[in-house]
Amino acid sequence: MNKIHLLDEKTVNKIAAGEVVERPASIVKELVENSIDAGSKNITVEILEGGIPYIKVTDDGCGMNEIDAVLAFERHATSKIKSDEDLFNITTLGFRGEALASIAAVSKVVLQTKEENETFGTRLVVEGGKILEKTRCGCQKGTSVEVKDVFFNTPARRKFLKRPSTEAMYVTEVVTRLCLSNPGISFKYVKDKKVQFITSGNGSIEDVILRLFGKEIHSALIFSEFEAEDLKVKAFATKNFLNYSNRNMQFFYVNGRYVKNKTLSAAVDEAFKTYVPSDRYPGVFLYLEINPRFIDVNIHPSKLEVKFSDDRRIFESVYRTIREALRESNLIPEVKLEKDLKNEEGQIGEQVKLSLPLFEVKEKTDDGAIFVREEVKTEEKIDKAPKHESSSDSERNVKRLSDIRIVGTLFSTYVIVEKGDVFYIIDQHAAHERILYEKLVSQYERVQSRQVTFPIVVELQPGDMEIVGQERELLYKLGYVFEEFGNNSVVLREVPVILGQPEAKKLFVEIVERLRDKDFSSKVSFKEEEIATMACKAAVKAMDTLSENEIYKLFEDLKIAENPYTCPHGRPVIISMTKTQLEKMFKRIK
Ligand code: ADP
Ligand code: MG
Repeated sequence: MNKIHLLDEKTVNKIAAGEVVERPASIVKELVENSIDAGSKNITVEILEGGIPYIKVTDDGCGMNEIDAVLAFERHATSKIKSDEDLFNITTLGFRGEALASIAAVSKVVLQTKEENETFGTRLVVEGGKILEKTRCGCQKGTSVEVKDVFFNTPARRKFLKRPSTEAMYVTEVVTRLCLSNPGISFKYVKDKKVQFITSGNGSIEDVILRLFGKEIHSALIFSEFEAEDLKVKAFATKNFLNYSNRNMQFFYVNGRYVKNKTLSAAVDEAFKTYVPSDRYPGVFLYLEINPRFIDVNIHPSKLEVKFSDDRRIFESVYRTIREALRESNLIPEVKLEKDLKNEEGQIGEQVKLSLPLFEVKEKTDDGAIFVREEVKTEEKIDKAPKHESSSDSERNVKRLSDIRIVGTLFSTYVIVEKGDVFYIIDQHAAHERILYEKLVSQYERVQSRQVTFPIVVELQPGDMEIVGQERELLYKLGYVFEEFGNNSVVLREVPVILGQPEAKKLFVEIVERLRDKDFSSKVSFKEEEIATMACKAAVKAMDTLSENEIYKLFEDLKIAENPYTCPHGRPVIISMTKTQLEKMFKRIK
């Protein structure tokens, strides 16, 4: 008896639908993408209860005539490509001609559509893939698609749906992503009869961010872009002090499509390194335009992954673009009354810049040679960086810092400084840590070392001798020279110049401990992390009393730091508050 037979059309369609329609959110995505492809200027998305019983997408795009409307529900029916040659030059979001057929196969659909010059529109009722009704109707130019009872005829799949509130979250995510990549379209999103947001459609991405996420994020945005012949990068990011516990506020687009990609995430992390704590994530809106030649085209369009043929180049470009934005911004967080923060959240309008930058915002050149300039700056910095230990040239400092006034030190830890209508509070330890860190990192080949007067003997744990033997080169770069001394000990001959003897010994032991942990030591950033620890150990502590000259020195050094805003662990060095805020607290003004 033969066992193989061809599946009937209904079953084939249901199987195929499974690939396109996973949940209500995938339906919303397909419908909205169709509306975008139809050249719409206004798109409304409405859902009830996570979209399971009801979804409606309305647009004012080109619409369809009667014949096209019927064809649109056939599998592999599309107006977007004609032959296989067109596959290499796709400019629309859809092209497979599968979405409407798939959606209709697993739900009940009502479509109304009208082309501009027609008198009547067409109304179709489709259920489980079958057209039940076709009538004329009066309607505006454009298309509306209502989808009811998702998976009504595939109960097994319906069971896999999550709670309505969770499904609604997925829909919101989809709509959010589409809004961010289509600032020229006005989106209205209505959930359970409540308007969630309306975007203006004025073409500004910043405006979309404002409408979607509110004033706090919008006012913390920094922007930077990079352009080469076949690659364009545009990046909006939140200033480092506004950060989150996960990547949900990071949105990446490649040629207008939302993607998830490890290279892009890594580039963002690297750019924000030491600007945010390692377990925190800034908000990022990243837009890449890249010649399609450099992207793997074999990836399913409904999947979110993308592969670049030159990962390194993409990484470098994104990293440098964002880093540039950080370098050019005033990143001092401002202390505000809770009441004021709430007010800002609610209102939509121009941001009022309150805080004056204490560190001059670095100038932008228009010759496009941004990356070259970065290197030059670093070199200047090494030459000019005055040593914290010597305060002989303090007179010069006083003159150069004449527009600020050191008010004093609070709790022997926080330096308070006044400038115009703003005052700043600086954590002396974090500030010094940052200065030392940058100095050490700039000693690129090797941390400066000194010979010890009396040999320091370090006893090691069994097995450690092998580790220090293997990592001799790395330890050398960190400023350590040592010799074996018996079975389980080494004697330190040279140690980092900035550390006292006991600290030098302690750090050496700690480094060996961390080297033992293979996962940790194999990290590329091991050396930098150890340098951060070194800077922390050598920096003035909270509770250390600093002289006025030392405070000026700290400032002078901070002013030329590449990042004066955070310590190497990403914690703030400096915060600000305005006179106005203070006056509000004391109820002098409202
Ligand atoms: P694809 O988008 O891959 O072409 P779909 O099944 O999503 O396939 O849509 C089939 C066709 O129906 C599209 O090619 C388009 O011509 C037409 N269509 C679908 N939605 C709309 C809409 N909102 N406005 C105008 N035409 C539409
Ligand atoms: Mg489509």
